[in-house]
Amino acid sequence: MTSYFKLYANCILVKGINNSVIYDLFLSRYYVLPIELANLINEFEESSFDCVISSHQDFQSEITSFCNELINQGYADWFEEDELELYPNVNLEWDYPAHITNVVINSNNHKVISKTLMLVEDLLTPAVLLRTNKVDTNLLVLLNKVLETSIVSHIEIITPILSVTHKEIERNMRLKTIWLGNKIPSEFKNYAKIKSIKERVYFKQKHPVYELFTESQAHHTYFNRKMYIGVKGEIKNAPECKEEFGNINDLESVEELKQIIATSEFQKYWFVHKGLCDVCKDCEFRHMCVDNRLPYQRKDGSWYHKTECNYNPYICKLKEEEGYQPLVEIGVVSNENGFSIDHEKIAAINKMLWKEESENA
Ligand code: SF4
Repeated sequence: MTSYFKLYANCILVKGINNSVIYDLFLSRYYVLPIELANLINEFEESSFDCVISSHQDFQSEITSFCNELINQGYADWFEEDELELYPNVNLEWDYPAHITNVVINSNNHKVISKTLMLVEDLLTPAVLLRTNKVDTNLLVLLNKVLETSIVSHIEIITPILSVTHKEIERNMRLKTIWLGNKIPSEFKNYAKIKSIKERVYFKQKHPVYELFTESQAHHTYFNRKMYIGVKGEIKNAPECKEEFGNINDLESVEELKQIIATSEFQKYWFVHKGLCDVCKDCEFRHMCVDNRLPYQRKDGSWYHKTECNYNPYICKLKEEEGYQPLVEIGVVSNENGFSIDHEKIAAINKMLWKEESENA
């Protein structure tokens, strides 16, 4: 029998320009590997193990130990030829049974909060983030009342002032997290639901999950199906967006809100997935990343960002890591005029950078 080496269907290879990653969508973990080994996995998809290894005579033992490592870690296995059709690829189509999957409310006005939450019910929205100046008994009573039979299952609050007791928080099962801007009051120390807002970082690398991976194939994972209600009740796609689409206080029915959401203007960023954006399309983390930077479109239809991400995929370095350099210093230009990559310069930088790292290891 001929043996094939194959990744499990839930373990998907994503190639970046310099590194690659195997995403394990069921166990929410990942395995980083260099592009040469990623190419090898592609070869295994086409041919039997013996066939692949015979064309890499000089590296047979290295390839065998690489395969064994992936098998030991549960990313892959050996299969016989007649078993291959028993392992079809995972379906990567994405949809969600809600007009809006997450709502951000930035308001201290209880009227705005309660009206939004009532409308959200008909949008079938499961998650709400509320940014408000104070969490007190009145607010928690309002949340309990409005959401008593609601489809909303997850609420997070960002606030500088917390003036309630543990018991009052615990009474609201939908309230999952309170992010505090100020110091955590001593009585709430060690209380699981209270976290400091400082824990939030601009780029938080996500673990791979099936829903995010499938959504990211054709959608922007931050702007897609999001709605923002601002301080005065203004309606936007997200807080980062400039465009406003009326005011929640002026709406008489959820149908009016649904009409706003259905417009191509409101959904302008929903389909700008990372594969369309400069730099991100070269990044191996593009299917596990929730990046909130606004993308901008050039006249030729291509997309770019005005600020840099914390991760540079051309040298595989995060900003806080030794050896990190910003894009412009390594020969990558991305702005309103176009996108260019100085491949020779990047190759020279990588050679130096990673040679130094392996010497220091
Ligand atoms: S470059 Fe940054 S923002 Fe773009 S996909 Fe990679 S991690 Fe995400």
